Amino acid sequence: MDHADKKEMLLSNLIDEGYLRSKDVIESFRKTPRELFVLPEDSEFAYLDHPLQIGLGQTISAPHMVAIMTEELKPGRKDKILEIGGGSGYQAAILSPLARSIVSIELEEGLSDFARENLRKAGITNVELIHGDGSSSIPEGPYDRILVSCGSDKIYPEWVENLKDGGFILVPLNRFGFQTLYKITKNGEKLEKKRILDCSFVPLRH
Ligand code: SAH
Repeated sequence: MDHADKKEMLLSNLIDEGYLRSKDVIESFRKTPRELFVLPEDSEFAYLDHPLQIGLGQTISAPHMVAIMTEELKPGRKDKILEIGGGSGYQAAILSPLARSIVSIELEEGLSDFARENLRKAGITNVELIHGDGSSSIPEGPYDRILVSCGSDKIYPEWVENLKDGGFILVPLNRFGFQTLYKITKNGEKLEKKRILDCSFVPLRH
């Protein structure tokens, strides 16, 4: 089976399982070549619903997790989105056709170079991949949405400050050895917290 057939099988499974729901999100999964975002030796596994090692102890998330995050994020066409934890660049690539622009920050320089090169090969031009610590030094917003792709102990003030009023952060928060994905909506001075589901991302580091 070639990549196209494997991809169609994966998509139909993700749709049947209820992870992929929106037409635009399904279309983005269909046109984004995940094989360009994994290590060359793992190319044949690109369309399995598994996380894969991408070096430096980090992983590209499993497709169903990217589907959950993207469906929950509900990006609007005019949105400016910030991602913390660029990894391979795949999640940012999936957001590319759904939003105006994406800034993605990656702590490991080797991975930020990897992600930038993967995005270039995929012909994606509205993602800016930045090397840095996304908990402390983020390019000034405001952002419509913030997506945290690593497990965090807390909500960093830099995220809230650079988030538009009415916007939200999707963040896996560490709690007692587990991780739960939360949607944190900025409502004036208040933060509204909603639990989405339990999940498992690599930890946010400094
Ligand atoms: N979204 C990625 C998967 C991310 S894995 C993809 O689609 O491939 C989580 C990533 O977060 C790892 O690459 C890790 O190096 C990075 N990370 C951890 N702490 C970070 C921090 N403080 N700032 C930016 N990136 C961080």
